[in-house]
Amino acid sequence: MSATTAGELLSFDREHLWHPYTSMTEPTPVRLVTGATGARLTLGGEHDGREVVDGMSSWWSAIHGYAHPALDAALVAQAGRFSHVMFGGLTHEPAVELGRRLVDITPEPLERVFLADSGSVSVEVAMKMVLQYQRGRGRPDRTRMLTVLGGYHGDTFDAMSVTDPVGGMHSMWQGLLPPQVFAPRPPGAGAAADEIAAWATTLRHVADQHHHELAGIIVEPLLQGAGGMWPYPESCLQVFREIADEHGLVLVFDEIATGFGRTGHLFVSDLVTPDILCVGKALTGGYLTLAAVITTDAVARGISASESGVVMHGPTFMGNPLACAVASASIDLLLAEDWTSTVHRIGDRLSAGLEPLRILPGVRDVRTIGAVGVVQLDHEVDVVAATGAAIEAGVWLRPFRDLVYAMPPYVISDDELDVLVTGIGAAVQAG
Ligand SMILES: *Cc1c(COP(=O)(O)O)cnc(C)c1O
Repeated sequence: MSATTAGELLSFDREHLWHPYTSMTEPTPVRLVTGATGARLTLGGEHDGREVVDGMSSWWSAIHGYAHPALDAALVAQAGRFSHVMFGGLTHEPAVELGRRLVDITPEPLERVFLADSGSVSVEVAMKMVLQYQRGRGRPDRTRMLTVLGGYHGDTFDAMSVTDPVGGMHSMWQGLLPPQVFAPRPPGAGAAADEIAAWATTLRHVADQHHHELAGIIVEPLLQGAGGMWPYPESCLQVFREIADEHGLVLVFDEIATGFGRTGHLFVSDLVTPDILCVGKALTGGYLTLAAVITTDAVARGISASESGVVMHGPTFMGNPLACAVASASIDLLLAEDWTSTVHRIGDRLSAGLEPLRILPGVRDVRTIGAVGVVQLDHEVDVVAATGAAIEAGVWLRPFRDLVYAMPPYVISDDELDVLVTGIGAAVQAG
């Protein structure tokens, strides 16, 4: 260990390091992490050695918890062979093995894998593929994406263009982003059939109006994540599929958050198959940044028929062997356990624990899906107060907008879940 004190680390951090969505000049507090194992983070500095239960899985990614022996071993083994080589003109076993697994565990028609270096980049690649596919089919005028309000697809420019234009974090970019076509977001999970039908009619109408310029549809299937933690009915997925088919649009499911079991389905795409699937976040069990775009053969053929004939994209760290090796190990680990029961166990305990919060003043809604629990307030959360109260209760949470929510690592124990629920309650009352 270096001799640098916690105070010195935090003070350099405060002066020099940007944090996500955080002011450089008026930063909100950050906590120093000195260790992480299982479903717990160890905090340093003022919290000197205190362990907190992690409710965030490091933004949906650490599904197996921290310092998992199997993932550590996969990483070390690959580092002992080689850590990286370019993917242009070269290939390697970690990439092939991961590709094989992704083709195996995703629905049958999805069989062509593009490895990207982050979720946002995979969305860029998917959108580029959609445009190239339409060009390959002789429809260069099809340049816009249809999506729904309330979505989140990443922070790069094309990804921002399909993210919610009002509630999203990107409203200031209006005018600089490629103009996309937005329809209302689906009604919430449990909506009545006539409400779903009315939404579908509106979506159809928007698609009809714009069909001559539409290239594809992109949505987060079943659960909108960072756009508002909004689960919606399964039957809406079929509506996206039908509209895509009616108008010759490429259907993209962004499962960067929902993939790898989080909603109770290994992939939501197992319910309704898209033409392009983006996965990321939990792909490497939260160890390293990696995402994948998986397409049908028809999409690959369409792209090949476009002017350039190739996907014009190739990140320096494409197919990084360390990331691929740990991703394969993470997938093997997930499939080797009874992940469905685990996700249900977590979901049941979260909903039983959170339901009583519904009657608290300031609480607008409580909702759960899979291993995700959400408390929506009737006001913007005071993030500093809510985070502080959660840590006091022994829990790490990162609320946003009007939402206090959790999607813990699947390895979380029942006792830790009870602590987590208490922490959410404390955050709700403080925030
Ligand atoms: C997090 C997220 C992204 C962006 O992924 P990054 O790895 O942060 O670039 C895109 N889409 C969805 C649905 C996400 O949850």
